[in-house]
Amino acid sequence: MRILVIGSGIVGASIARIASMYRDLDVYLVEREADVGWGASKANTGIIHPGHEEDPRLYPFRAKLCVEGNRLWKSWARDLDIPIKFPGELMLVFEGFESEARRYIDLARINGIPGVRLLYHDEVERMEPLISDEAVAAVWAPTAGIISPIDAVIALVENAVSNGIKLLTETEVKRVIVSDGRVRGVETNIGFIGADIVVNAGGIHADEIARTVGLSYRLKPRKGEYILFDSFVEAKPKHIIHPVPTSITKGVYIVETVEGNLMIGPTAVDLLEDAKDDTSTSTEGLSKLLSEASRLLKELPPRDRIVKFFAGVRPEPPNGDWIIEAYTDPWGFVDVAGIRSPGLTAAPAIALHVFNLIRERYDLKLKVKDSWNPHRRGIARIKDKPKQLIKRLVEEDSRYGSIVCWCNMVSEAEILEAIGRMKSIGLKTITLDGVKFRSKAMYGFCQGSFCRARIAYIVSKIEGIPLWDVRVNSTESKLGVGDVKSLVKGGSYD
Ligand SMILES: Cc1cc2nc3c(=O)[nH]c(=O)nc-3n(C[C@H](O)[C@H](O)[C@H](O)COP(=O)(O)OP(=O)(O)OC[C@H]3O[C@@H](n4cnc5c(N)ncnc54)[C@H](O)[C@@H]3O)c2cc1C
Repeated sequence: MRILVIGSGIVGASIARIASMYRDLDVYLVEREADVGWGASKANTGIIHPGHEEDPRLYPFRAKLCVEGNRLWKSWARDLDIPIKFPGELMLVFEGFESEARRYIDLARINGIPGVRLLYHDEVERMEPLISDEAVAAVWAPTAGIISPIDAVIALVENAVSNGIKLLTETEVKRVIVSDGRVRGVETNIGFIGADIVVNAGGIHADEIARTVGLSYRLKPRKGEYILFDSFVEAKPKHIIHPVPTSITKGVYIVETVEGNLMIGPTAVDLLEDAKDDTSTSTEGLSKLLSEASRLLKELPPRDRIVKFFAGVRPEPPNGDWIIEAYTDPWGFVDVAGIRSPGLTAAPAIALHVFNLIRERYDLKLKVKDSWNPHRRGIARIKDKPKQLIKRLVEEDSRYGSIVCWCNMVSEAEILEAIGRMKSIGLKTITLDGVKFRSKAMYGFCQGSFCRARIAYIVSKIEGIPLWDVRVNSTESKLGVGDVKSLVKGGSYD
């Protein structure tokens, strides 16, 4: 039996990992981009939400699977060596919002979340001296965490591939093929791929895929912009800070990422339906973020410590709750759509839920492979290593001593390992973004201004392509236009 999962975001990758456990299943993970996790899963706040903001009476899936996901990430992150931490979260309460804040304490009780309680200003200030004097209280949730979402997707896919699934990138599903009431496969830009069960985890584009089997819901794109400061700024709160949420958004968060950067965001702006891939940033977004964040903290770092602006697009489902269904008409079509926040938190629980649903609905008798390996190790980084160990590594492989990215202390050996890992999961194009996300080179204060050219040179040598042909973040995005010497001489570089 073949299961084909559309979309290698955090949801599709988690489902593929669970599917990789079973014997007699041929699993395909199909992704239109050149790499995994480049949809909403790479551009979000990275919070592992406790679940006290989800009302089970309104959004049963969100409430149940968020709470379970928060718990599951502890073991998934350990098994897969994903950077994660649990600093806890302070939801700041300003005058007039006290009764709203108490609602979250009630929801914590209903959802069974431990340790959530109301703290008054003095106690909050003792925990977090940077918080604004205007905050009269805070809802403290100790189980809130922070994960690196792109590392999580990469780890899940590496683990799933090592357990036998096939990843097909640069493969866009155009439509799901159905005949005699059953799914038969998908039509893609590289041709037909047969499958008995198709799981639609296509993020903001899942509604377009669902339409090809006759379903008619629509997902609304809602953009969220972010500001990232460098890791050396002083005004960095120890806990996750945010205000009491509104009906539209959980509000602007201030967090320290697992890489140690201060991050502020997101905004919440509804886009037109044809602007689903609009991840542009704006000066209005920047001003809004700074003004909202300055309500939360006494001081913010200076603007010249900002290293990056970026944006992600939420797939807003019609009624607010996630669309998770295994249909019998057509038999074999499974929707996992509209996975807006807290989808990152819930992803492991969503994957287990979806797989149980598939087994029950389609009466699959599955046995776990004896050889299934739940573990995967991340790239060992010399940045975190004691000097003695670095010395030993350099003696074993001198490329550990050749530093490529000075901001983040990334060596040539780590760049090569990142490229090797991209090849090992079957990526067809080695992009600079792919190397960046894996090695953390080009991730520091200069954002690649100094090391990008050297990394591109390494990629060009390995791939046997001209330097200017190295791709940045898609198959179209070439690093340059051609050989400058040829252009100066008036020649052709093609
Ligand atoms: C601004 C913002 C902040 C957020 N903050 C948080 C947070 O702090 N905590 C939290 O828990 N959640 C958060 N979320 C929600 C979380 O990011 C999402 O729920 C989650 O990433 C959704 O994952 P996904 O796999 O469903 O979608 P995606 O990551 O978008 O993956 C879908 C994939 O499908 C691919 N695809 C689409 N169409 C096709 C096709 N036709 N053929 C092949 N491939 C296709 C895409 O390229 C993409 O890779 C946030 C979201 C946003 C946007």
